[in-house]
Amino acid sequence: MEVTEAMQETKTKRELISVCGPISPKELGFCQSHEHLALSKGRSWEINPDLCIDDTDKSILEACLYREAGGSAILEAQPGGCNRMTEELVRISEKSKVHILASTGFHKLCFYYGDHWIFSRSQDELADFFIRELTEGMFTDADTIFAGKQIRAKAGFVKTALDSCNLTPDYRRLFLAAADAAIFAGRSVMIHVEKDSDPLKLLDLLTRSGIAPTRLIFCHTDRACPNLDIPLELLRAGAFLELDTIGRFKYHDDLTEASIFQNLVEKGYEDQLLFSLDTTQARLRSYTPNAVGLDYLLLVFLEQLRGFGITSEQISKFSHENVLRALL
Ligand SMILES: [Zn+2]
Repeated sequence: MEVTEAMQETKTKRELISVCGPISPKELGFCQSHEHLALSKGRSWEINPDLCIDDTDKSILEACLYREAGGSAILEAQPGGCNRMTEELVRISEKSKVHILASTGFHKLCFYYGDHWIFSRSQDELADFFIRELTEGMFTDADTIFAGKQIRAKAGFVKTALDSCNLTPDYRRLFLAAADAAIFAGRSVMIHVEKDSDPLKLLDLLTRSGIAPTRLIFCHTDRACPNLDIPLELLRAGAFLELDTIGRFKYHDDLTEASIFQNLVEKGYEDQLLFSLDTTQARLRSYTPNAVGLDYLLLVFLEQLRGFGITSEQISKFSHENVLRALL
């Protein structure tokens, strides 16, 4: 790979990169660390019709409601090449004034068509693609073309996904490429954790490849893991946990979720917890009347957390300070 000036410059700076440019730690404000606000129709929509969030005006409205409730930023977890609506994310951020940190990387491989470049590119080519999205700008036509049209807006972190099939050769290659890119560009890696997967084995692979556990954010362990054994091992290793089974009553109620936060705080891990809603179309109010909405965490769940003894300082950590430490 040829190291360009843009790559060199971005790599040496530890900063928060939103789709509208770098932002200061203070500007980040209240941040939900795993959301979806724009998602075009693709293989994932064929599997689950709720995985389509493609009306930009509705997404802007949803982001404005979030802003009104006190939200300031989100980490957008749809990676390039997997129906990320790259230019629309810029528009949503400009119109709503919500900071959006977009992602490069990869999602579960069942969300790609069989002829997608994600299956055929080498570890080095994939790492190069991720690095270019982090340091030069994101590709807008990556659903079908490898490294085609690029815009100035950059990705702010690397999103990855661990499926229940675990580290097959394809996933191994992708995770190693993601680690290479994160190390090179000085960025962090977010990991979707699927039910029945083995996040500890992945932690081992990633740390052996040279990435610090403190640069890793494991997501959804509050619904993917049967109990707290694995989440606690991840925390002991120094990784961050992003918890988001909030207002998702088919998994468990909010009191159960709040008790998970309480339990992990009591065990001393309040500096490693992040929270979010992991929205789909079905959970965004501007798309689905009576849905919980992107502002649900602020308007409803924080009160539940307080009822479990979680303090304002701890909430500030989950929504701001810990996000900064996870990303910077
Ligand atoms: Zn997600």
